[in-house]
Amino acid sequence: MHSNKSKHLVIAPHHDDEIIGCGGTIAKAIQNGDQARIIIVTMGEFSGIDGSIENNVDIREKECRRACGIIGTQDIHFLKEKDRDLTYRRDLVEKVMMHIDEYEPDYVYYPHSEEADRDHRIVNEVTGEALFLSRSHFLRNKKRTNRIKRCLQYEVWTPLTTYQFACDISGVIDQKIEALNAYKSQGAILHLENGVKGLNAYRGMQAGTDFAEIFKF
Ligand SMILES: [Zn+2]
Repeated sequence: MHSNKSKHLVIAPHHDDEIIGCGGTIAKAIQNGDQARIIIVTMGEFSGIDGSIENNVDIREKECRRACGIIGTQDIHFLKEKDRDLTYRRDLVEKVMMHIDEYEPDYVYYPHSEEADRDHRIVNEVTGEALFLSRSHFLRNKKRTNRIKRCLQYEVWTPLTTYQFACDISGVIDQKIEALNAYKSQGAILHLENGVKGLNAYRGMQAGTDFAEIFKF
């Protein structure tokens, strides 16, 4: 029997971007029976946490597993790139392509191109190229991934000026904030809850609901 359940692939530069950018949309999809895979590109070793790099990386991975567990997935992959030292590289593009080929997502989420954070812009570029190559005929001996229905660029630190789709996340806003609060190390540095709830409330107002996440195609 044909299944109408979808697969969602989220590419996040740092641990917490997946929750801030599209955590509500993913939580809602999972409630609906969909699946989601999360790819965290960097190690998050510069997180403002005291202690060794290994310790910081460990803390952020544990927080990420907890946060993603709250929105309903444990399918998380860490690419362990150096934080704040990310560069556009072909091998990184191939790692993202590998997940696209293997997971065969219906929807792919990644940061939008105007983000002020450099790591975010690099992930936008890397994912954009991986999506292009996954659909192209350029690479021989490679199966082409034609299953993707939509690529959605999310906002984290720089609000989008225009968008094509707003997802009503009013029913899962508490779940999203709980997931965000699993990032205790980051919550101690930034007032994540107020900022993210405020942005989602603002987007909700524009979309005619209480809370929303918005996306650029
Ligand atoms: Zn980030």
